[in-house]
Amino acid sequence: MNQSTLVATVVQQVLEKLNGPSGASSSGDSGAGSGGGKSFSVPTGSFGVFSSVDDAVDAATASQKQLVEQGLETRRSIVKILKETAEANAKEWGRVELEETKIGRLDHKVAKLELLGTVPGVEFLETVAHSGDEGVSIDEYAPWGVVGAITPATHSIPTLTANGISMISAGNALIINPHPSAANCAAMAVRTYNQLIAAKHGIENLIGIINPPTLRSAEEIFKHDRIPLLVVTGGPAVARAALKQPKRAIVAGPGNPPVVVDETADLKRASESIIAGAAFDNNLLCIGEKEVFVVDSVFDRMMDAMAAAGAVRLNSAQVDRLTQAAFEWKDDHYAVSKDLVGRSTSELAQAAGTTVDPSVDLLYGETTEDNPFVPEEQMMPFVPFVRVRDIDEAIALAVKYEHGFGHTAIIHSNNLERITRMGKAVNTTIFVVNGPCTAGLGVGGEGYPSYSIATPTGEGITNPLTFTRFRRMGVSGALRMI
Ligand code: NAD
Repeated sequence: MNQSTLVATVVQQVLEKLNGPSGASSSGDSGAGSGGGKSFSVPTGSFGVFSSVDDAVDAATASQKQLVEQGLETRRSIVKILKETAEANAKEWGRVELEETKIGRLDHKVAKLELLGTVPGVEFLETVAHSGDEGVSIDEYAPWGVVGAITPATHSIPTLTANGISMISAGNALIINPHPSAANCAAMAVRTYNQLIAAKHGIENLIGIINPPTLRSAEEIFKHDRIPLLVVTGGPAVARAALKQPKRAIVAGPGNPPVVVDETADLKRASESIIAGAAFDNNLLCIGEKEVFVVDSVFDRMMDAMAAAGAVRLNSAQVDRLTQAAFEWKDDHYAVSKDLVGRSTSELAQAAGTTVDPSVDLLYGETTEDNPFVPEEQMMPFVPFVRVRDIDEAIALAVKYEHGFGHTAIIHSNNLERITRMGKAVNTTIFVVNGPCTAGLGVGGEGYPSYSIATPTGEGITNPLTFTRFRRMGVSGALRMI
């Protein structure tokens, strides 16, 4: 059977199991989905899907040993399997993920899976050599072993696949604790990947997943003595939990990306960019434009440019209604109400007391800086625009509302001094100039993508090297041939 026929057959078998009348497991217990969508179950106990962390670690440890023994060609081949399978199933898996999580947009769920083909692989591991009078040394990038990964509800299959590509390229196995509301789609993808890897290379459990995942299983992964490295992608609570662990944690934490627009900006380009970025998957991206500061002298023209580019403006009464629906007052602060996270512009418009055509990508409106849409990471296709006196105030507010996450910030300006000044002041991992946020991940810009941007721990846009240990072999006084 050739590789593409095999992919189609395995995927068909997995989907038949998922959609079958009982959804019953053929090989042990089943994890049941806790997401809002259609409930289905994925067999546990084989092909990477486990209900016990210890079992998953045993299986992944054995698979990682096989991976290392089989060499770099096998790693390359496995990365190819992951990329081709994600691309071949992008439409179906995007649909399954959306049905389970009920957040985001189908076209963009599909696009996120198709983008995985550009995630870097084994080619990133370049050996460095030093040669001189004293001999020769080589610096190499070694695996850690089994990596523990936590993945978010916002991009479940894309994050685990991108993590898988990077970590396996680096010679690791991984075990994922997925978000409970996106666990079954993740388990389905993991099972499919492992079946295909096993068919070609005889390695069955290189990507492990815990289903059903719980806070307890996350804690077990954090504490497990055979998991030397953690990679956590998620919001503030899990980022804090990971940073407290007594082992190395690479943390891809929350963002609240501000956008600054000054009077030198190309307002048409700025509007189109803000719509493309903030509307992407209904603003679920951690890099997505979340609040915009526009200098007073071009504020009204910028609001018109947004409308001309296809966004729909809410008036102040509508913004107030939407704000009431989108946030709840908890103790002493506003918190995002999960009900509207990742929902469509139509649903948001309804909450605001109006209607919009389903083809509208983004809603926007004028607010003051104290509207909770500005400080909170809101993940909805509505963007607040705040009028500011000048570029100094714009940069100061951008810094304030980025909250020191060190994640992403954006400027639209044609003044090099101001661009440089904001870049220094905001000090984020990703700083985009005159484009949509996605330009920072190579979409509408240059560079490679990743779904885990390590912010508080500083590794940045993760790639295979992020998941390696540096090793040097030094040969003293020999092996230099010139
Ligand atoms: P979330 O924080 O609710 O969940 C993320 C993961 O952490 C889930 O698997 C969840 O079950 C787990 N979790 C939550 N609290 C935990 C705890 N105390 N201990 C152990 N595990 C815990 O996030 P989400 O809603 O799925 O995703 C959105 C958030 O993730 C946003 O804040 C977004 O900015 C962030 N994010 C960051 C990146 C990045 O690359 N920096 C990428 C995607 C998402």
